[in-house]
Amino acid sequence: MKIDTKGLHSFIDDDKIWLSLSSAKKCTPEKIQSVLDKASLKRGLNLDDVAILLQNEDPKLLDKMYETAKKIKEEIYGNRIVLFAPLYVGNECINDCVYCGFRISNHDCYRKTLSTDELVKETLALEKNGHKRLIMVYGEHSRYTPQFIADTVRTVYKTKIKNGEIRRVNINAAPLDAEGFKIVKEAGIGTYQIFQETYHKETYEKLHPSGPKSNYLWRLFGLERAFESGIDDIGIGALIGLFDWKFEVMALLTHSFHLEEKFGVGPHTISFPRIEPAFGSEFTLSPKHKVSDEDFKKLVAILRLAVPYTGLILTARESVEIRDEILPLGVSQIDGGSSIGIGEYSTEDKESFKKSQFILSDNRSLDEIICDLSKKGFIPSFCTACYRLGRTGEHFMELSKPGTIKSFCQPNALLTYTEYLLDYASKETKLVGSKLIEKEIESFAEGELKDKLMVKLDELKKGIRDLYF
Ligand code: SAM
Ligand code: SF4
Repeated sequence: MKIDTKGLHSFIDDDKIWLSLSSAKKCTPEKIQSVLDKASLKRGLNLDDVAILLQNEDPKLLDKMYETAKKIKEEIYGNRIVLFAPLYVGNECINDCVYCGFRISNHDCYRKTLSTDELVKETLALEKNGHKRLIMVYGEHSRYTPQFIADTVRTVYKTKIKNGEIRRVNINAAPLDAEGFKIVKEAGIGTYQIFQETYHKETYEKLHPSGPKSNYLWRLFGLERAFESGIDDIGIGALIGLFDWKFEVMALLTHSFHLEEKFGVGPHTISFPRIEPAFGSEFTLSPKHKVSDEDFKKLVAILRLAVPYTGLILTARESVEIRDEILPLGVSQIDGGSSIGIGEYSTEDKESFKKSQFILSDNRSLDEIICDLSKKGFIPSFCTACYRLGRTGEHFMELSKPGTIKSFCQPNALLTYTEYLLDYASKETKLVGSKLIEKEIESFAEGELKDKLMVKLDELKKGIRDLYF
């Protein structure tokens, strides 16, 4: 792969971001309220609006902002929450990202790449727990070619046990060249995720001192190459804690607006992982720009208001308490029952943390998470219908913006949740879940859709699987 950034110019305008953040400090409460009113219309916000919300410290207006975010999330996403699991394929890496346990200079990291047999075992272990959606994660190394990534994705799709199968594989890997993206797309991937980590170029260059990842522009334009190669389902993100978090929010949204303007469709998801301690990384123990829980909550609510239709992902890096508090503010996807040591789903290894990229905070099993979500009235969803019916990119946006996606999503969530309860749930989860489903069906508007849903639910009980709208 030849890294070529000739002719590329960053669309992140630092001066504009700082200026907007500094002017926003002088805003009156009335102006802040007017931004919240605008947000309630669910048409999103511009960067100056976002700066105003980022600088707001008034507790009453903050509470109003959280209420607005909650309302928008309920109106657009209902009580659904999509569940997935990460599958780490290999931790060999030629980059030296100071915050990552996999970086080349961490000689204490146990390097490991799953063989095909081991990958099958990992997939089976995830399927036996009830997972249907994965994100496969790779270091950056000459072994992890586009062909290798595509082959591992195909292996996962082919691996099935009883009713267990993986129906959607997303990817988190290094940016590829156009040819590479085409090869990976052919394997039938869902979203291709690349996190810019920090959008602040100077900081980026300090924290990524060597390897291909040290090239800021190659990474920044990675997802554009993906789009140009036909991948219209992409995920952006920033590693929160590397630089000023308000700058990162402004830059993430700049990136999102830029993609929407250029390709007619913005990112499918935004991720905002906070730095966690990583084995062998001093940097992660006290990052200078560490973000408090209160600011993190603010960050999530503001993203929800700014881009109401973009998926927001909150991972198990966060503690159970934080996840519980932040979930209702606009999160649409979480992982559950996650392990991030290479091979950890299928093998017992007390030293697996030495093969891990960082340390997870939420270590509950998938069933515990589903039971807990159900008790709180959330419908866990394993739905993969849109991607499998080609409702991606521009088509997805056309559907999701006017809110019609809800009429697919809610029944599909109920169908995949029912599958989980029938095939994998513990006694307690089954009990709580069945009551919740009954309640949902009662409140479902009478009509053709409800009739069709009832037929499909019946078919599931008779043993038919993988039904969707
Ligand atoms: N090697 C690929 C890359 O760098 O793009 C794949 C991604 S890496 C395995 C997945 C993501 O984990 C990174 O993009 C980074 O944002 C995040 N990450 C790395 N170290 C972390 C840490 N200490 N705490 C939390 N997240 C971390
Ligand atoms: Fe390698 Fe990715 Fe870790 Fe950087 S973040 S060291 S590129 S695995």
